[in-house]
Amino acid sequence: MRIKFVYGILPAFIIYTDKFLKPQNGGETRLMFIMIRSRFKDSEALLIHGLTHVKQCYRLLIIPHGLLLRFSGRYEQKIELEAYANQLKYHIDTNTFTDDKIDIFVNRIYKYHNKMGYSKERIRKLLLDKLKD
Ligand SMILES: [Zn+2]
Repeated sequence: MRIKFVYGILPAFIIYTDKFLKPQNGGETRLMFIMIRSRFKDSEALLIHGLTHVKQCYRLLIIPHGLLLRFSGRYEQKIELEAYANQLKYHIDTNTFTDDKIDIFVNRIYKYHNKMGYSKERIRKLLLDKLKD
């Protein structure tokens, strides 16, 4: 297990494991615990995605975040867009961006985080707009 800090002082606990993860996910975040599949141990991009979720959690003081996530498809979509946009920014900043990344992320959001029923075109536009934040 590793500990990283968000906002300077708030801990995020990183656990490398193959247990508990949905088969389609390289990592999952629950509150301030980031679980990353062992084979993605060295993926900074995945870590940044997880750390974004930990920040979102602290930002809303844990319980409202969990409740919103459970009951609001709009909120889930919003936080995933932010996490994937930060992952993209990381790839751009480190010159590890490849043209297929946007399609991959749009497809993942469309398939797994699309309770609002948005089209892929709309998700792509929202994701690209988030990059400007
Ligand atoms: Zn996510």
